[in-house]
Amino acid sequence: MKLSPQDRRIMERMAPGVLCRDGFLGGDDRPLGEILDADRAAVEAAGLTHEEIVRRLGEILRLAMARYGAPVEVGGGLTAVYVEAMGRIPCPWGGHGVFAKGEVRLADRLTGRQIVFTPLSVHLVDEHGFYQGKGSRYRLEPRLLAELLRRNDKK
Ligand SMILES: [Zn+2]
Repeated sequence: MKLSPQDRRIMERMAPGVLCRDGFLGGDDRPLGEILDADRAAVEAAGLTHEEIVRRLGEILRLAMARYGAPVEVGGGLTAVYVEAMGRIPCPWGGHGVFAKGEVRLADRLTGRQIVFTPLSVHLVDEHGFYQGKGSRYRLEPRLLAELLRRNDKK
């Protein structure tokens, strides 16, 4: 898949040290369009939609941020904690404002499985269907999201 000039600019902003120390791609060297297509298919295969994921992660984010670093049970055997960090970060697509740099650690108390996401992560899925590159700190693996959020639905 050929990289468009626009995608190339976005991917340059995703590199380590540009908008954030670790960048958004991890060791993933696939073109942006391919990453987006593969995750769109993976989300669908997991029986989820971007909208459902955004709704649930957004809700968990609000609950966790309201507790200022204290763990909060968010249903379905999941515990979330918001870890604050200094500063704000813009979206690599540009023109979408800035996002608080803290992160939510969401863990399944039974299995110990965990995902880590940020306010920007929720925007990236919502606006761009982007789950970040494989190996990056905030990669949201669709299969793992399905595992955690589906359990979560059952309450
Ligand atoms: Zn954006």
